[in-house]
Amino acid sequence: MSKVAEEKMRNHALAHVNERKEVMGLMLGGVYRHNGREYALVRDVVTTDLDATEVSVRFDRDAFEKLFASLDESGFRYIIVGWYHSHPSYGCFLSSTDIQTQRAMFNRSFHSALVIDPVNREIDVFRLRDGRVESRPFAVYWDPYQEPYASKVVRFRKQVKGPETAIP
Ligand SMILES: [Zn+2]
Repeated sequence: MSKVAEEKMRNHALAHVNERKEVMGLMLGGVYRHNGREYALVRDVVTTDLDATEVSVRFDRDAFEKLFASLDESGFRYIIVGWYHSHPSYGCFLSSTDIQTQRAMFNRSFHSALVIDPVNREIDVFRLRDGRVESRPFAVYWDPYQEPYASKVVRFRKQVKGPETAIP
């Protein structure tokens, strides 16, 4: 996923952490192959008004127009490669409701469910494979010209092979 997408999701979750409300949105990008393996790239994310509590979230029924407008404004050709939502303080996993959502809406092999816990500062990515939930490896990349870490020291904990660069 791009640094921009990761920051948007993180900031979205952090913006509602005090009210302990969940957030959610859609991940936009593309599906590619590298060395025979399929991977999805998340370039950007979009969201809209939400109907949220501490333990649930959904798009507000009156907010789809806004969501479609955001999709139109994305500025690049995309496919929806998954969705993200937050679990404020209760860790990263897929609940039975999340699994139902994944099964109904995001059942392709490239579809991911990203879960972010802004309290414990964790992100994990999941998908369904043969009906079972599996954790999915991911990396954050950025365009050097965007310089998200300009003037900051970045520690590279894990190197990954492929077109992505590294996990900060
Ligand atoms: Zn959930």
